[in-house]
Amino acid sequence: MQKYQAYIDGSFVDPAGGEWFETFDPYLAEPWALVPRCAAPDVEQAVAAAHREASGGEWSRLTASRRGELLRRLGDLVARDADRLARLEVKDNGKLYAEMLAQLRYLPSWFHYYGGLADKIEGAVIPLDKPGYMNFTRHEPLGVVGIITPWNSPLLLTAWKLAPALAAGNTAVVKPSEFTSVSMLEFARLFKEAGFPDGVVNVVTGFGPEAGTPLVEHPLVAKIAFTGSDATGRAIYRQAAGGMKRVTMELGGKSPNIVFADADLQAAVYGVVSGIFAASGQTCLAGSRLLVQDSIYDLFVGRLLAFAGQAKLGDPMAPDTQVGPVATRPQYEKVLAYLDVARQDGAHAALGGGPAAGGACGKGWFVQPTIFTGVDNGMRIAQEEVFGPVLSVLRFTDDDDAVRIANDTRFGLAAGIWTTSLERALSMPARLQAGTVWVNTYRATSYMSPFGGYKQSGIGRENGMEMIREYLQTKSVWVNVGAAVGNPFVTR
Ligand code: NAD
Repeated sequence: MQKYQAYIDGSFVDPAGGEWFETFDPYLAEPWALVPRCAAPDVEQAVAAAHREASGGEWSRLTASRRGELLRRLGDLVARDADRLARLEVKDNGKLYAEMLAQLRYLPSWFHYYGGLADKIEGAVIPLDKPGYMNFTRHEPLGVVGIITPWNSPLLLTAWKLAPALAAGNTAVVKPSEFTSVSMLEFARLFKEAGFPDGVVNVVTGFGPEAGTPLVEHPLVAKIAFTGSDATGRAIYRQAAGGMKRVTMELGGKSPNIVFADADLQAAVYGVVSGIFAASGQTCLAGSRLLVQDSIYDLFVGRLLAFAGQAKLGDPMAPDTQVGPVATRPQYEKVLAYLDVARQDGAHAALGGGPAAGGACGKGWFVQPTIFTGVDNGMRIAQEEVFGPVLSVLRFTDDDDAVRIANDTRFGLAAGIWTTSLERALSMPARLQAGTVWVNTYRATSYMSPFGGYKQSGIGRENGMEMIREYLQTKSVWVNVGAAVGNPFVTR
C-alpha cells in the first residue's frame, strides 16, 4: 500500500506523530493506501508557513496579475492530470468514473476564472459628504484560510474555495476528509510545478477533532471555508466564533423536486432520477423529496419506478454502471439505518429498501436505489439528510400546497420545479426558500453562478464573481486634502 505524506511548506513530510491510517476503496471494501494522521503540531507548521506567505513572504509581494498567472497555470496542470486525479477519487469514494472524470475536466475552469479575477479586484473612491477629505477603499486578503472538505466531491469542493481564496491573495491550509485524502495529496504536487511559492497551499490530513479542530482554533487562521454535515458545520461555527473568524458554510439539504401536472413527464422522470440517484444520492444538493401533484401522482410514480428500477449497480469504473457504492462504511450503515426508520414511521418502500450485494456489487457498500411512498413531510425520512440513494415521495394539491411542503424543512439548499407554465416557472422560484432553484433541470452548477444555502443549509455563497468578496476585507482610507483642523477635542 502506498504511504502518503502531508504537504507542508512545499515539502511532503511525515506526520509529526508518526502515525498513518488506512483509506478504503468502497467498491472492494478494502484498504488501498495509508494516509498521514496529522494533528496539532502538523497544523501548527502548516499555518506558520501559510501565515509567513500571507504576511510579508514572497506570495504577499506578488502582483495580482502574477497570482492570476499562477492560478491559470495550475488550471492547465489540473486539465493535464484530470484522468489520473479522477481515478484516485473513484478509488476513495466510489463515485462513477464517468462523473469524476467530467468533474475533474471541469475543475480547471475554477482556476482559470478566478485567475482572471485576481487583478480585477478594485477599491473605489467614495464621494464624501465632508469637504477637504478624500476617501477610498482597498480590498485586502484575509490572511490564512482553513479549508475543510467532505468526501463526496473532494477536489471540486476544494477548488470552489481554494481558487477564490488564492485569487484574492490569501494562503491556505486544506484539511480534506479522512475518507478521501489521497486525491488532494496528489493534487498538492501541482502547486510547486505551477510555480506557487512554498507555503502558499498546505495539506494536512487526518480526523476532524485531531486535525480539523486545531485548524479552526488556530489564532492565525482568519477564515474557515467548510462543506460537510450541518452538525459539524455548527460545531465549527461555534469554535470559529471564539476567534471572531469569518466562515462560509455549505451544509446539508433536503431539497424538494416538484413535479406539476403540466410538466414534461419524461424529462421530469430523468430529472428526479438524476437528482437522487446520481452519485448514489451523496450530494448536498440531492433532490431527496419528490413532490408530485395529485392528478398525475399514480402515472408519474409508476413511470419513475419503472425507470429507476432498471438502474444498473456495479463497478464505478465500468462505463455502463449507473449507481455505484456508498462512499464509506459509516455512511453505508447510516443509510441502511434510515431505511428502517422510514419503515418504522410508516413509509412504504415501493422500490429497493435494503442493501445490494453479490453479482456486480461484489463485497462493496451498495444500497439499492430506494423510493419510499406514503411519506408524510413530518417523518424523519422527509426531514433529515440521508445522503444516500433514498427518495421520499409526497403528494400536493396546488401551488400553495407545494410551496408549503417544500419550505417545511430546516434546510434550504436547492429546489427543482417541473412545469411547462411560464407563469409558474417564474413565480415559483421567488416563493421557494432555497439558494438554488432549477426549472426543468436539476443539478446544474457553474463556477460563474452563486451556490449556497438558505436557512440551516449554510452561510455565504460560493462561485461567481462577487463571491471573491468572501475572501477579502475592506479597508477605508482617509486622506486630508485640505480639511480645516478645527477643535481637536471634538470629533466630527
Ligand atoms: P463531516 O461534516 O463530519 O466532515 C466534513 C469535514 O469536516 C471532514 O474533513 C471532517 O474531518 C471535518 N471535521 C469533522 N469534525 C470536525 C471538527 N470538529 N472540527 C473541524 N473539522 C471537522 O461530514 P462527513 O463525515 O464527511 O459526512 C457525514 C455526513 O455529512 C454525511 O452523512 C452527510 O449527511 C453529510 N455530508 C454533507 C455534505 C455536503 O456537501 N453538504 C458532504 C458530505 C457529507
